[in-house]
Amino acid sequence: MNVIFLGPPGAGKGTQAVRVCERLGIPQISTGDILRRAMKEGTPTGLAAKRYIDAGALVPDEVVIDIVRERLAMDDCKGGYLLDGFPRTVQQAEALAGFADIDAVIDIEVSDEKLTERLSGRRVCLACGGTYHVSRLNGNVCEKCGGELIQRNDDKPETVLSRLKVYHEQTAPLIEWYSARGLLRTVDGAQPMDDCFAAILKALGV
Ligand code: ADP
Ligand code: ZN
Repeated sequence: MNVIFLGPPGAGKGTQAVRVCERLGIPQISTGDILRRAMKEGTPTGLAAKRYIDAGALVPDEVVIDIVRERLAMDDCKGGYLLDGFPRTVQQAEALAGFADIDAVIDIEVSDEKLTERLSGRRVCLACGGTYHVSRLNGNVCEKCGGELIQRNDDKPETVLSRLKVYHEQTAPLIEWYSARGLLRTVDGAQPMDDCFAAILKALGV
């Protein structure tokens, strides 16, 4: 099954994607993770992407489209995959339709108010990528690996507002786009994590 996770930043796409991929035995393809890795490694793509990401803007379509096209051509995608954070613009969706057959698009919906609270309070582990919310933290280390927890540059309050604005202007039109193609399934992302996971599996019919 080839699946897309759509939804605003902070909806829980990443967390749910890990669980769904584990359950279905398919790779998770997160353009955000790929870009952050490229930034850390200092590759040309990473260097080019940094100023967009830190500003809460989208990385240019050509860059992410190339990344995804190359990634989907790899062997582990033959049995299905989950795209997390791509497409984010109608141009990206149109390009994707030229090289991929999508079976389902899961739209994880959460109100802006809740998203702002989730994102501004999010802390991530430098070592393993685990995510936490400040309200449920004791100390400043990762429960899983003891790594240092930091706030992502793009989770700073001003940047969170830009990201939500970008989402509404550029990504939300994809809801209509995929709905018109009969692929859209909506899930409430405000419910507890396990309920959200169950709702996603149900929406996927697995
Ligand atoms: P979140 O879902 O929390 O916003 P991601 O990790 O998916 O975070 O993305 C972080 C940043 O990476 C985005 O704000 C954007 O700058 C860039 N990015 C990720 N995916 C895309 C994409 N498909 N198109 C353009 N930019 C992207
Ligand atoms: Zn960790």
